[in-house]
Amino acid sequence: MRVIVVGAGLGGLTLAQGLRLAGIDVVVYERDGEHGRPQGVSLHIDHRGTRALRACLPRGHLAMAEATMGGPRDHTLRVSERDGELVVAPTPSAGGRAGRQASRRLLRAVLLTGLEDRVRFGTAFTRFERRAGGTVRVRLADGRTDTADVLVGADGVGSAVRRQYLPHVEVLDTGRRMLMGATPLRAVAGTGLPALIGDRAASVQVRGTMMALGVHRFSASPVTARDRWLPALSSRAVAGVEDYVMWCLPVTQDRLGPAGSPAGVWRLAQGLAAALHPALRLVVDAAWPDMTVALRIAMIPPVPSWPAGPVTVIGDAIHAAPGFGGNLAMQDAHRLRDALVAHARGEQDLRTAIGAAEEGMRRDSLPTLDAQGRPLPRPPRPGAVEPAACP
Ligand SMILES: Cc1cc2nc3c(=O)[nH]c(=O)nc-3n(C[C@H](O)[C@H](O)[C@H](O)COP(=O)(O)OP(=O)(O)OC[C@H]3O[C@@H](n4cnc5c(N)ncnc54)[C@H](O)[C@@H]3O)c2cc1C
Repeated sequence: MRVIVVGAGLGGLTLAQGLRLAGIDVVVYERDGEHGRPQGVSLHIDHRGTRALRACLPRGHLAMAEATMGGPRDHTLRVSERDGELVVAPTPSAGGRAGRQASRRLLRAVLLTGLEDRVRFGTAFTRFERRAGGTVRVRLADGRTDTADVLVGADGVGSAVRRQYLPHVEVLDTGRRMLMGATPLRAVAGTGLPALIGDRAASVQVRGTMMALGVHRFSASPVTARDRWLPALSSRAVAGVEDYVMWCLPVTQDRLGPAGSPAGVWRLAQGLAAALHPALRLVVDAAWPDMTVALRIAMIPPVPSWPAGPVTVIGDAIHAAPGFGGNLAMQDAHRLRDALVAHARGEQDLRTAIGAAEEGMRRDSLPTLDAQGRPLPRPPRPGAVEPAACP
């Protein structure tokens, strides 16, 4: 069996690792270059992401990923200001899942290790065609084609695979953006803020502004962990990596204007933080400007089910969840990997295997709340909407 994955994000790479581990032929086409676009700083990994990584990664990769996560977090602190001092409220903020913080850059580097000969960077997918005999041919932006038994769209919220396969799926721009950055922990150590929040995430409400914060202390030094667990990981991935504070400031698209350079986004964040408590101001002022990004918050309303076939979609391509979409993307990858392995072993035909994975994904991953936090209606039962007619 041969599998084409479009997109080397969290979902696509977790799937590719899992398939490679199971001895299944996989190739990944990624539109961006090897270093990609900045996609944020940290990722909260909950039990779903942890389970997927444990199932799909080889031992050394997993040990490296887990050794360099932050300490366990079970709730988000609420921080406010009283008499000019930042204080932690006695009751934590509601919601949130227990888990650990991972550095996005480092996790991505771990996920890429060992896939060097399988990931084709700078190669955008454009279209697919279903062929007689059940295979799928993909067309790439550089004019080349490739053929496989299964095509997986793991190409994020703007997914070109989904746009062709399930063109009725809507993507809504909420108009909200998240400015996200990172600051060396040493630069703010003297403010008392790291001591106040420890290893936990904090939701700070001060002077009419909301800011999310989290301290990432690597459980093991990334350099030492690489030497011990994953020497094949590029040494550049760990060079100069140090403990940091991750921060987010919500903003609307109107306020953000056209997406600017990281330095431009950082200056905007500085403007938003200018009136805040001095410790919070320093967190933004002392940030690494080139790590600051403005992330779009999009949502996909629940998608009616579709008949299964050799083309499928996972992750943000079919359900966008800004706070935990990475966990869902990895969970989808894990589930699809298991389905494809069952098929490769002759335990299930391909449609049944992919259909079961999609059903599980719809059950567990499609949104149940809308952008305002109101419950959404459950998706209709299977068979309601056909995928677009394939050429
Ligand atoms: C502010 C913010 C904070 C977040 N925090 C968390 C968190 O703490 N925990 C969490 O679990 N999730 C979090 N998320 C969500 C998480 O980032 C996403 O859900 C996750 O990255 C989705 O993974 P994916 O693999 O589906 O897609 P992506 O990571 O978006 O990857 C898609 C890939 O496909 C590539 N691609 C696109 N089109 C093509 C094409 N035509 N051809 C080839 N390649 C293509 C892209 O270049 C990209 O590399 C957060 C999101 C935001 C906005």
